[in-house]
Amino acid sequence: MSENWKSRTRMVHAGTRRSGYGEMSEALFLTQGFAYESAEAAEARFVEAGEDEFVYARYGNPTVAMFEDRLAALEGTEAGFATASGMAAVNGALMAFLKAGDRVVAARALFGSCLYILEDVLPRFGVEVVFVDGTDLSQWERAVTAGTRAVFYETVSNPTLEVIDTAAVARIAHAAGALVIVDNVFATPVYSQAVAQGADLVVYSATKHIDGQGRCLGGAILGPREAIRGPVETYMKHTGGAMSPFNAWVMLKGLETIDLRVRAQAASAQAISEGLDGDARLARVIYPGLPAHPQHGLMPEGGTMVAIDVAAGKDAAFRLLDALRIWTISNNLGDAKSIATHPATTTHQRLTPERRAALGITDGLIRLSVGLEDSGDLLDDLTRALEMI
Ligand SMILES: *Cc1c(COP(=O)(O)O)cnc(C)c1O
Repeated sequence: MSENWKSRTRMVHAGTRRSGYGEMSEALFLTQGFAYESAEAAEARFVEAGEDEFVYARYGNPTVAMFEDRLAALEGTEAGFATASGMAAVNGALMAFLKAGDRVVAARALFGSCLYILEDVLPRFGVEVVFVDGTDLSQWERAVTAGTRAVFYETVSNPTLEVIDTAAVARIAHAAGALVIVDNVFATPVYSQAVAQGADLVVYSATKHIDGQGRCLGGAILGPREAIRGPVETYMKHTGGAMSPFNAWVMLKGLETIDLRVRAQAASAQAISEGLDGDARLARVIYPGLPAHPQHGLMPEGGTMVAIDVAAGKDAAFRLLDALRIWTISNNLGDAKSIATHPATTTHQRLTPERRAALGITDGLIRLSVGLEDSGDLLDDLTRALEMI
């Protein structure tokens, strides 16, 4: 790949490995294994596989490698490892580097399954996990003691859209010798500044904007070659979290259009949040692209997600959801189809009411994933549904 290519060129061409047939669309190598020309060749490949040599699809596959290389090129990292889901990526990025006795500092506003790994799994193996308010730098400063092994957070949190200042947190973490591992799903590869701001490892759920059309599960861990081809690959290839070649092929096609899709979705999200802002029936309209957002300006654009807080609470929020015609009630995000979610009763149901309250997940909160439909239609649907509450 040419170093000078802009991201719009990389998303179409980076990582392409063309077979002898000269196919235009990336080939789907739907194979688990690879044949060797001789016993000697098999032996040599097990000693060390070259850049374009594969031994077993749990370790790597040409279609999966194209996806890894293309996503790494977009993110600006040396290497990537593709995983079966976003959670396989979060788990792998943490487990590959942690051992008993280590300390991890994490932001408390996390996706439910990330919280499970940090709160339930890691402590079982003797890892100490300390939670902080990710937007409060003084809490990071106090919690990240010398010898802390890693910090972990969502660069933009789910569902309340807190934006964490990676440049500042990375400075604190690196001074203590800690790795900075970020879940970058809400920022998307299009608006990501994670590596430039100091993140060491960037984790994605490819299920979201990278697929972008709600078809396949997938994920990726991105970072320096040393880390990815070292501890990450070793852990992932032996524990079985590999991405299927078919899913990698779908994700490769997703990357070709991600810039166009995400920018269109973000423009609609901006228009919708501006259209709803100030409505007396809403206690809050949370969107990083609104000037009133506490971390406005930390992201180059506001992104594709909006959260609204129906002032009258759960029953009114449910009436709004049930009245929607274009927006679909579901819990995925990043899809071409616009999606509305009620976190308190679905994605964050597992939390106690007190924990939800501390995270700002009220009974009236609705998370909106803005899709590719006409933004005027989407806003009309919401304002019409608001009349029903
Ligand atoms: C969806 C999501 C994940 C998990 O991804 P899967 O592909 O569903 O496993 C992790 N983090 C965040 C922020 C997410 O939105």
